[in-house]
Amino acid sequence: MNIVLLGAPGAGKGTQAAKLVAEEGMCHISTGDILRQAVKDQTPLGIKAKEYMDAGDLVPDELIIDLMRERIQQPDTAKGVILDGFPRTTTQAVALDTMLSNLDRPLDAALLIDVDPEVIVKRLSSRRMCKACGAIGTAADGPTCASCGGEMYQRDDDNEDTVRNRLEVYETSTSPLVDYYRGCNLLVTIDGDRDPDEVYADVKRSLGM
Ligand code: AMP
Repeated sequence: MNIVLLGAPGAGKGTQAAKLVAEEGMCHISTGDILRQAVKDQTPLGIKAKEYMDAGDLVPDELIIDLMRERIQQPDTAKGVILDGFPRTTTQAVALDTMLSNLDRPLDAALLIDVDPEVIVKRLSSRRMCKACGAIGTAADGPTCASCGGEMYQRDDDNEDTVRNRLEVYETSTSPLVDYYRGCNLLVTIDGDRDPDEVYADVKRSLGM
């Protein structure tokens, strides 16, 4: 099964993807996670991507499409993927269609996790991430990761100004994908402003799991 997770930053795409990985063993590809690792490792991609990410802007399409073209051909994707944070523009969505059709793997669904923007600003300013394993938590969980004991930190782009810019970028560049996938008959909208387990129950139901 090949799935695109759509939704504004902080809607809960990563949280839902982690649940699908844990329960269903699906292969999770997050372009944000790949880019953050590239920035940390100071690879040529990371060096180019950093300034866009720090400002909350999108990394240029050609860099992301090259990255995904390579990633999606790796063997762990053969049984299906959950794409989290990709595509984020119509150009990327069209490129994804070509990549999947070249691999003869159709897209099964585009799940939109729908959350009000003001809820997102509040959520993201208290979001914390584990430096070691990438688990997602909140400031209230304390400084240590509940999964691996690693150090929890606040992402550079989770400050309020950058979050507001990321939401504007989402509205302008990414929200047109809702119509794109509706037009392909693949769109499923899920109310993301609820407890993550309730959202997950809907995610599974919509995927027939
Ligand atoms: P995320 O973890 O998905 O919120 O992504 C963090 C940042 O990485 C975004 O604000 C963008 O700067 C960059 N990024 C991630 N995925 C993409 C993408 N598909 N296209 C362009 N930029 C991306």
